[in-house]
Amino acid sequence: MEIDPPAPPVSPPLPYPGYSPRAGDAPRDCPLCPRLVTMRTDLRARHIGWWNAPVPGFGDPDAWLAITGLAPGVRGANRTGRPFTGDAAGVLLYATLAKFGLSSGDYAANTADGVALDGVFITNAVRCVPPGNKPETAEIHACRPFLAEHLRGLSRLRIIIALGATAHQSTVKALGGKLPKTPFGHGAVHVLHTGYTIIDSYHCSQLNTNTGRLTTPMFEAVFEAALALK
Ligand code: URA
Repeated sequence: MEIDPPAPPVSPPLPYPGYSPRAGDAPRDCPLCPRLVTMRTDLRARHIGWWNAPVPGFGDPDAWLAITGLAPGVRGANRTGRPFTGDAAGVLLYATLAKFGLSSGDYAANTADGVALDGVFITNAVRCVPPGNKPETAEIHACRPFLAEHLRGLSRLRIIIALGATAHQSTVKALGGKLPKTPFGHGAVHVLHTGYTIIDSYHCSQLNTNTGRLTTPMFEAVFEAALALK
């Protein structure tokens, strides 16, 4: 009887072209948050071509500036595999990075657009898409070690723009700061005793931009502040 040779190992898909794994990228089948695992399993069954896994960081390993978002959008980063790519939240973010010379390439809301970041790294407080865009406290807590690994792994990192109060809180904690000393406020600048500077912004979500809570000039002013402190 002939025995078939063993099948070659199947490599997991890459989230985006040029991806190289970093400490702080959660494993594809990360088991830490039962609610998010359930959502991921359901999405994998319903949307076979989507990424449907923890979204890794994206950007320049020599970044001086990091951007902490909240969590992948279901039809954005969860679908495409690249932070802030494919949903409305990415439109203002990638346009702003391009305007200030922090990226090259033309953002086209897909991972084949060739966008590369220069001096910037994008991460999220939570790596998996949460129901209703709202991660629970335990999920934010469970994902914080990954956020800390992303940020602390960037040896040239000096400044972090935190998008929204949750990203702010998790970034402060990940970098060893104290929350009572650093309350969230749009445009607030916090210098941690560990040497990092955190600048807060309202999140560039469609809800905030549509309601005028966050305007393009307000968002650009946050990046101008970061560049002034570089
Ligand atoms: N996409 C992300 O990757 N993060 C966000 O916070 C929102 C959209």
